Amino acid sequence: MLVIKDKVKFTRGIIIIITGFALFIGVLYFCASTVISLFSKEGEEILMNDIIENNNVTEQTEQISENISNYSIDEWNLKLVNKTYSVDKTYIPELEEISDEKMFDKRAISYLKNMLEDIRKENITNIWVQSAYRSYEKQEELFENKVNYYIEQGKNQEEAESLAQTIVQRPEMSEHNLGLAVDFNTVTNEFEKTKAFEWLQENAQNYGFILRYPKDKQDITGITYESWHWRYVGIEHAKIIKQKGYCLEEYIKYLQEAQEV
Ligand SMILES: [Zn+2]
Repeated sequence: MLVIKDKVKFTRGIIIIITGFALFIGVLYFCASTVISLFSKEGEEILMNDIIENNNVTEQTEQISENISNYSIDEWNLKLVNKTYSVDKTYIPELEEISDEKMFDKRAISYLKNMLEDIRKENITNIWVQSAYRSYEKQEELFENKVNYYIEQGKNQEEAESLAQTIVQRPEMSEHNLGLAVDFNTVTNEFEKTKAFEWLQENAQNYGFILRYPKDKQDITGITYESWHWRYVGIEHAKIIKQKGYCLEEYIKYLQEAQEV
């Protein structure tokens, strides 16, 4: 009798173990398949997002190259002024007042005003226009003052001029003569540390403005980094310049080359 009872116990034990094991395998399989399907869905989504993103980039690039063939480097807003290309002494744009007798090109002033309005809406109030349009005569005066300062320091005319040039542009070489450039706040690179600068870096292109003399383009622009100096070029151009990480010199070259093809 004892033997039979033991046999029954043993068989029951075996059945319980087998059932338990089967259940365990079943649960394991269920969990594993759920995890796998979750991952593969995520994977699909990531892949889809990649495809959509790539398509957007391709569309944008196609749009850009389509637009570029219509752009002319002679557009008033793309006027290039630097040590090679000077502003004609007689060039005086039609001007409108920003505030406090500071003037800007009439065709671009609404973009500047909108930009300043929107930046202030973000509670960034520590921004002001220090300098905008400057006439040829005004720029000449600023340059001469700087030269005289160095002459007083004991430099000769040539030395004084080349030193002055690193700080103040020669009259025919200043973008401020175009009425399309604006200097913010203290006209020093302290501006770089402000919230206003951060905002401009992110948004200025949406109003048609670019940082004209970036840190990493000094060898191309020929001008040392100026975080305070922003230039209007128009929204479409500014967006491409920003996207491609160009400075204005590079962008003009890019347009020229695209049109030569
Ligand atoms: Zn400036």
